[in-house]
Order: sequence, then structure tokens, then C-alpha cells
Amino acid sequence: MRETTDILISGGGVAGLTAAAAFGAAGFRVICVDPAPPVTGAEEDGADLRTTAFLQPARAVLEAAGLWERLAPHAAALKVMRIVDAGGEAPEPRIVKDFDAAEIGEEPFGWNFPNWLLRRETVARIAELPNVSFRPGVATAGVLTRTDAALVTLSDGTTVSARLLVAADGRASPVREAAGIGVKTTRYGQKALAFAVTHPIPHDNVSTEIHRTGGPFTLVPLPDRDGRPCSAIVWMETGPEVLRLAALPVAEFEAEMLARSAGLFGPLTLVTRRSVWPIISQIADRFEAERIALLAEAAHVVPPIGAQGLNMSLADLACLVDLAKAAPDRLGERAMLLAYHRRRWPEVKARVTGIDLLNRTSMLGARPLRDLRAGALNALYSLAPVRRTLMKAGLGMR
Ligand SMILES: Cc1cc2nc3c(=O)[nH]c(=O)nc-3n(C[C@H](O)[C@H](O)[C@H](O)COP(=O)(O)OP(=O)(O)OC[C@H]3O[C@@H](n4cnc5c(N)ncnc54)[C@H](O)[C@@H]3O)c2cc1C
Repeated sequence: MRETTDILISGGGVAGLTAAAAFGAAGFRVICVDPAPPVTGAEEDGADLRTTAFLQPARAVLEAAGLWERLAPHAAALKVMRIVDAGGEAPEPRIVKDFDAAEIGEEPFGWNFPNWLLRRETVARIAELPNVSFRPGVATAGVLTRTDAALVTLSDGTTVSARLLVAADGRASPVREAAGIGVKTTRYGQKALAFAVTHPIPHDNVSTEIHRTGGPFTLVPLPDRDGRPCSAIVWMETGPEVLRLAALPVAEFEAEMLARSAGLFGPLTLVTRRSVWPIISQIADRFEAERIALLAEAAHVVPPIGAQGLNMSLADLACLVDLAKAAPDRLGERAMLLAYHRRRWPEVKARVTGIDLLNRTSMLGARPLRDLRAGALNALYSLAPVRRTLMKAGLGMR
């Protein structure tokens, strides 16, 4: 069978599904394919237990896609980002610095959501859009491009002719491979554990990042669970240490968590499975090829620090949608794709470099270096203009 469409999105992860809703809401005909059906319940096998903190600029993208009103009732606001250095002799807080969103405006820094819920609400939104066809269970199998279209063979035997092929098929993107675009990858020998906990001491909408060795231990607020304060945790460590922690009996794991959290929230109770994620930095050499745009992790991957990953992806998406709406007749043409690459690549490259540096700083094991890190945090924080600039830069504001 042969079909035509404006946009084919390869990949229905959080980024691909959001792109399908955004382009659909902008009036384009969209097909989105993914071999894996989306898991939309917390308790189901394979549920993505990570959470995503959408930062302020993401909200406009979600509003335009018709997603924000669905998500807002489930949001946990992030009003303060607290950085704790516990890198001294004992695992105790020795420096605590609060970056308060109230210093730079009236809005919180962002809002946190579980990834499985993002998938549920986005799939429901797409179902309302008659010009969007989401096809779970179908993969991109072959890509051929010409100057006027991308010809994509799907695993169900369909051939689709699309004016624009959006690669949102993850860090090992098959579309990127087919287009012959290389990547630069940095490995840290690190992994992340992602899970949720409840705790007796409320989080007060503060996101807390605790640094000692091996990588940050970050608590991000979630709405209360069973009447108790609840947080999502991302715990980064060396690969073998993460595998050891993931295999510990729950009581022993909870004891290790309590120590690593420096007791700041009282005893932590594990309320989900523990999921393990490899940590890398990666950037594609180019974000475009003939009739193809790379989006989200197909274009860039960063360690989960400062909630940058998917927020960079939504900035990619906003840029692509703006370009498409400005000249719908020229969708997928070379000039549009070059403009996308020029606007996004340098900005993403700068962020990947910055987050790489932050991650290396957080991994430091040697005591004198940990002391230097604490000193740098103190110095950066105490200058109010530097502090405000850092907060705005973290949000992606100019
Ligand atoms: C522990 C952790 C915490 C994080 N926290 C945050 C946060 O707070 N804020 C933030 O902004 N970011 C965060 N991130 C990053 C964020 O989770 C990722 O950027 C995001 O989930 C990646 O989305 P994606 O859609 O690009 O990729 P994926 O979720 O990997 O989706 C790719 C999809 O492509 C599909 N696919 C594969 N092959 C094919 C094919 N041949 N054809 C079609 N489809 C295919 C796959 O099945 C998959 O569904 C975090 C990451 C980690 C590891």
C-alpha cells in the first residue's frame, strides 16, 4: 500500500508523541509509528518510571499542542532548586544553596510529571485529532529520500511518501543511521537509578540535588501519594554500584537511600520498582539531512542534570513547528531544514558541553576536588546577578 502525508514521525516516545500532537494541532497531516505500544499505567510491565520536569518555556509548546490543559491537574510545581553539597568527611550537608524561582519571576521553574502519565495524556490528545494517525506496533523499516519527499517503508509493508520525516526514534535512531549522520558519544561509566519514594518531611515544592561522589542524588517533587509527601529520585553512580543498589533487598536499599539523602527528608520508603538507565552524552553531527529532521534523543542525549533532556527536545520541536507554520508550502525543503540545524545545533552543543562539565564535577571522588566544587558553588551563588543569570540559562531563557 502507498500513502502520502505531510509529516511522518518515526518514534512514539514522549518526544515523538508530543511532536505528533503539536504538528497535528498546527493542521498538518501526521503519521507517527513506533514498534513498542505506549505503556500508559504506572503498574504495568515496562512502565517508564522516570519523571519529566517541564521547565517554563515548555509550557507554551504543550499549550499549543492542546496538551497543557490535560496535564495541569497532575502537575507538581517546582518553586525552588536546592543544591546540597555533602562532599565532606561524613555524608552530611555542608553547603545548602536555594535557587528560588521567585527571584526571576512569578512562575515556578517548572512542573514535574511521571513519564507514563505523559504518554497516557498525549495518546488521548492525539486520538482527538483526525489528521493524526498513531500506529503503535509498526516500525520504520527503510528510508529513501529524494529532493521532493522521503519514501519510508514501514514494517507492515506500507510505503509512505512524506514531505518531512521526523526522526524521534531515540538515541540509536534507525532513521539517523539510514541518513548516514554520525554522532559524538561520551561515556562516563555511570548509570542512573530512577524510582519514587514517600517521606515524612514535606518537599515544599523544592527540588533537591545532593552532591557527594559518583554523581548527583536528585529528589523532584511529585503530588502526594497515599496522603504522604512523594518525590521522584534519580540516583547516579558508577555502573557496578548502581547494579549493586538495584539488586539490594528493599530494607537495605532504603537504609542506603537514607544515608545518601543525608537524612534531609527523614526515612525514605520505596513505592515503585527501581529502573536502571545508562548515562551518556551524545550529539549528532548534523540535525538534518535531505527531507529529514532529527529531534530529541535522536539528535542529543545528556545526563539527567537540571532537567535539560526533554526540555531541549521541546525547544527543537518549537523551532520545527515555527518554521513549518511560517512556510507550510515549503515543509521539509532544504532551506527549512538548514534553518532548523543552524538555530538548534549551536544551542544544543553549548548545553551538552555545560551538562558534561556539571556531571564530571558531580562525579568527583577525591576530597580536595570535592572541596573545590563546594567553594565554586559558594562563589557562584553569592553573586546575585550570576545567580539570576544561571537560573535563566537553566530555563533556556535569553
Ligand atoms: C533517569 C532519567 C531522568 C530524566 N529526567 C528528565 C527531566 O526531568 N526532564 C527532562 O527534560 N528530561 C529528562 N530526562 C530525559 C528524557 O527522559 C528523555 O530525553 C526522553 O525520555 C527521551 O525521549 P525520546 O522520545 O527522544 O526517546 P525515547 O523515549 O527513547 O523514544 C524513542 C522511541 O523510538 C522508538 N523506535 C525505535 N526504533 C524505531 C523504529 N525503527 N521505528 C519507529 N520507532 C522506533 C522506540 O520504541 C521508542 O519508543 C531524563 C532521562 C533519564 C535517563
